[in-house]
Amino acid sequence: MDCREFREKHGLYIDELCSDLDAFEMRSHMRFCPECDRHDTVVRRGMLLVRNLPSIRPSPQFQARLYDRIRAESLNRAIASGTSPRLTQWVSLAAAVAVLAFGVARIFATRQADIYRMAPVVASKPLRASSPFGTSALVATVPTGMSIWPAIVMASQAPSHLAATELASER
Ligand SMILES: [Zn+2]
Repeated sequence: MDCREFREKHGLYIDELCSDLDAFEMRSHMRFCPECDRHDTVVRRGMLLVRNLPSIRPSPQFQARLYDRIRAESLNRAIASGTSPRLTQWVSLAAAVAVLAFGVARIFATRQADIYRMAPVVASKPLRASSPFGTSALVATVPTGMSIWPAIVMASQAPSHLAATELASER
């Protein structure tokens, strides 16, 4: 193993992710190469130093102060760009209201178009059609060659015709 290969594989060696054969070759190389041995020592000391640093914990009010700061920076940027955030907020709100109103108007317009105004339904008792059997017109309209169907029609309506005739004569 040469120095270049040692440096390339050193990260894996530190993290103990290289093969046993590579780890053996790395240790062998460090025995005979003081520069790579010193590199390994420096890296390991640096890692030890970083691990022993106290952990950083944010103060309890850190998040609130962060958001305040972000809001303040947004305000400063808006002022610097020449538009007030209140104006942009009002414009956004007005646009949202306009879109909402347009949608509601469309819904109502659609519903109004769907309503059909129709004439009211008036129910009336149908007039009783005068029976052709009560007159002599039936006899005149019956063709002489087709004697079957008028007879069927007459036979099917004869009971109601006779009842109506009897009721009319009783009055
Ligand atoms: Zn070396």
